[in-house]
Amino acid sequence: MKILVLNAGSSSLKYQLFDMESGAVQAKGTCERIGAGGTVTHKRSGAEPYFEEIDLPNHGVALERVLSLLTSAEYGVIASVKEIDAVGHRVAHGGEQLKTSTKITESVIKYLESIVPINPLHGPPAIAGMKACLSLMPDVVQVAVFDTSFYSEIEDFRYVYPIPYEFYEQDHIRRYGFHGTSHRYVSAELAKVLGKPIEELKIITCHLGNGSSITAVDGGKAIDTSMGFTPQEGIAMGTRSGSIDPTVVTYLMKTKGYSAQEVEDILNKKSGLLGVSGISNDCRNITAAAKEGNKRAELAFKILVNGIKKHIGAYAAEMNGLDALVFTAGIGENQANIREAVCENMSLFGIEIDKEKNENFTRGIPFDITKEGARVATWIIPTDEEYMIAIDTQKLAQQ
Ligand code: AMP
Repeated sequence: MKILVLNAGSSSLKYQLFDMESGAVQAKGTCERIGAGGTVTHKRSGAEPYFEEIDLPNHGVALERVLSLLTSAEYGVIASVKEIDAVGHRVAHGGEQLKTSTKITESVIKYLESIVPINPLHGPPAIAGMKACLSLMPDVVQVAVFDTSFYSEIEDFRYVYPIPYEFYEQDHIRRYGFHGTSHRYVSAELAKVLGKPIEELKIITCHLGNGSSITAVDGGKAIDTSMGFTPQEGIAMGTRSGSIDPTVVTYLMKTKGYSAQEVEDILNKKSGLLGVSGISNDCRNITAAAKEGNKRAELAFKILVNGIKKHIGAYAAEMNGLDALVFTAGIGENQANIREAVCENMSLFGIEIDKEKNENFTRGIPFDITKEGARVATWIIPTDEEYMIAIDTQKLAQQ
């Protein structure tokens, strides 16, 4: 079975074609600058990447170009689009109604359109990608996989914010959680490498990248997570503030005359590691600058680490226990110094890592960094959201 996984952003379209028998990615690529020019980077497995500049006025044209590259004699991996059995779409937000991965129908699209007000950045491009597929590949099963669905079973006292209840009832303001596909994938992979049923495990998964979130997974189900109504809540990120006193927003508006949009831009694009350090949103640069004695880089590093520690402590308390801790995504998979700082002085929770293993880890595979005898297993698990989407898509296509 061949599955095409699509991830549509406001001006981009990322794709991967999976052969599900082998689990291999046959080709992948990215269309960028959609609506403002256009570029495509396409890579067939085992071949050099191919790059082109081409006019891509919308997501439909971008998808047409992707399909023509996938089937081209020179760069392609399939003879015809008919070889694609199903398409899986990454969708950030499923709202309150779409609680599991689902086949895309007119009514699914209608519902997604109705929740664009709470998902203004990611909703419209995802819908455009679905519509383009439905018109170009009308006979192929289309599946939507939501970042929010892993959190569909968290309890109300963890998702309702303590503000007037009508804002939840009427405006659907609540914690939704994001990165769910990644947390779901790495927690399942962890259970596999530990050789234990996930139903018996209490796991905290730390997805640490340019956007970061932490999730408590009890018995295979997410019971709490750090991101909320939007991916803004939680720990400090590359350019996002994460959680701050909400009054800071109104104070800035009142005292500086900023508009709502300006404050949102500051908290989304100019805060986090970048805002505190003043030098970069990239954790590698922060680490390097901190080592050279840059005080603000050091402060940004400490704020990040402290936020992660606090969530681990809170989630261990919520689950009344902890069996395993997982690090994933760009920072989690690559930055030994962050993992070391997070796990330092955490023996209260049973977390102790082997510093040698942590520093000399092997990239790209699940890697155990637990100190011998520690109560909690600590692992680096590379995330693979696209593969998780392909698996869900395959399951639904076979029904
Ligand atoms: P992501 O959003 O998952 O791509 O992660 C981006 C973050 O991961 C950035 O802050 C990078 O500093 C960090 N990162 C990504 N790749 C590496 C790497 N090879 N070594 C160290 N840090 C990395």
